[in-house]
Amino acid sequence: MLKFLKEVLRVGEATQKYPFAPAEICEGFRGRPEHDPIRCIACAACTSACPANALSMKTDADAGTRTWAINYGQCVFCGRCEESCPTGAISLTKDFELAVARKDDLIKRAVFKLAYCRSCGAPFAAAKEVEYVGRILASYATSPEEAERIRANAEVCPECKRKLDVEQIARSNPVQQMETAR
Ligand code: SF4
Ligand code: SF4
Repeated sequence: MLKFLKEVLRVGEATQKYPFAPAEICEGFRGRPEHDPIRCIACAACTSACPANALSMKTDADAGTRTWAINYGQCVFCGRCEESCPTGAISLTKDFELAVARKDDLIKRAVFKLAYCRSCGAPFAAAKEVEYVGRILASYATSPEEAERIRANAEVCPECKRKLDVEQIARSNPVQQMETAR
């Protein structure tokens, strides 16, 4: 018994006072992912990377919106979303107190507007993503005119881009022009 008491005195307090005092969180702790809708461009990179299907992206073409959502009830705090995000819009925090009264409260959403193709008018991506891609690509342009052309090109949907590319190739190649006309 004396030996045991000596050991207790040597070790000191081995438990934490949590929840009566804030818990001591170690460095590198992976807690609740926090999403910043201002930085988010709704690119869906994080939803593809999430192994637990805790992240989702739903497009409503009629409403012209794309909805990003996280279900904290499914999150396994792996941090893949943080690693894959190109804009730093999602990152893990040290928050681990996720209890809610209603299951639905575990789901957080952010709604983004869709961009419409300059050529066919169909919605094809989130407006913020199109703007982001256009801005990044235009930063490599060598003149303001080229930058404007690149930005305009980013506002064309992949389907129309393919058609425009084929037409351009056909115009510059008479043999291809004949095959396209058949
Ligand atoms: S931390 Fe992992 S499981 Fe949670 S949302 Fe991000 S990728 Fe998905
Ligand atoms: S990867 Fe980042 S920018 Fe893209 S949808 Fe997820 S949080 Fe938003």
